[in-house]
Amino acid sequence: MIVITSNTIGDNRIQDLLQFIEKNGAEAHISRGEGHTVIGIIGQVDPKLADQLRQMKGVEQVVKISKSYKMASREFHPADTIIRIKGVEIGGQNLVIMGGPCAVETPEQIDEIARLVKAAGGQVLRGGAFKPRTGPYSFQGIGVEGLEMMAEAGRKHGLLTITEVMTPEYVDVCAEHADILQVGTRNMQNFDLLRKLGTIQTPVLLKRGFSATYDEFLNAAEYILAGGNPNVMLCERGIRTFETYTRNTLDLSAIPVLQSLSHLPVISDPSHGTGRRELVEPMAKASVAAGANGLIIEMHTDPDNSMTGDGVQSLFPDQFAKLLVDLEKLAPICGKKFDTPKQPVMA
Ligand code: PEP
Ligand code: MN
Repeated sequence: MIVITSNTIGDNRIQDLLQFIEKNGAEAHISRGEGHTVIGIIGQVDPKLADQLRQMKGVEQVVKISKSYKMASREFHPADTIIRIKGVEIGGQNLVIMGGPCAVETPEQIDEIARLVKAAGGQVLRGGAFKPRTGPYSFQGIGVEGLEMMAEAGRKHGLLTITEVMTPEYVDVCAEHADILQVGTRNMQNFDLLRKLGTIQTPVLLKRGFSATYDEFLNAAEYILAGGNPNVMLCERGIRTFETYTRNTLDLSAIPVLQSLSHLPVISDPSHGTGRRELVEPMAKASVAAGANGLIIEMHTDPDNSMTGDGVQSLFPDQFAKLLVDLEKLAPICGKKFDTPKQPVMA
């Protein structure tokens, strides 16, 4: 249920309403928009409470949320969520660029790629230490050592870091080393993992399951939000369709649809979304044109010899740098800000 307050309401009156709701055993969440302030109420709400609230001063409307997910919905939280991490803002008008290899391989590899991501103007270094591979005999990532290497590279080059966590047991150690935790497509409905991520405050990038509907995707996000972690971003990374030319079909419509259904930032992954290097640049640009709040892109200094099969979709460093130069021009046309300082890239 949401309580829409009148736009002339003062802070004291809002506090009175919050206290009244909590005294009645319900949980209240506040969302301050440009016009009205909205109070979202979670859980089974006594219909009498709704009637009482309707009569109260400063209340304009009391409405039931129509969706199965509540906290993830735009109705519950009309203003865009902005996640702030060490000076970087994700959400709203900002365009955030995450770049790096599919997997952390060696200290030298991640250090060099971090340098190149930073030089190109990226803000976040990506890299998997625990890899969710389709086959059990494929390279599975180098584990905790990889987390340490990536944290060191991020610190040295002034980048935030993002890494995938696959099981609840590894959430704490991953959160110790990385600024953002990624939930991969195969784990979107790993409910134990989502519940565990709800108990911490580390931001989470939740990837869409490769055959998940928007409703299922937003309900997965709801698990994390309902557990108490408000720092969730959604990631469109392509879905499985009948087309086999591309690895997945990047669902560009998901970007504006998710932004209309939800207040959470939406990040696009054109690397896994296409599986082909030559499609990353056009689909990255198309994602920004569709309103994405950020991109997560695979980049490797030696993609042909990368330890996962994702070299075929990884950009070379010069392609990554050129893309970011283009995005700086495209972003303002699409209502986004992307103006992080760039340094000339030395070979
Ligand atoms: C990845 O980011 O390297 C990855 C495995 O992504 P996804 O879960 O989207 O396949
Ligand atoms: Mn990958």
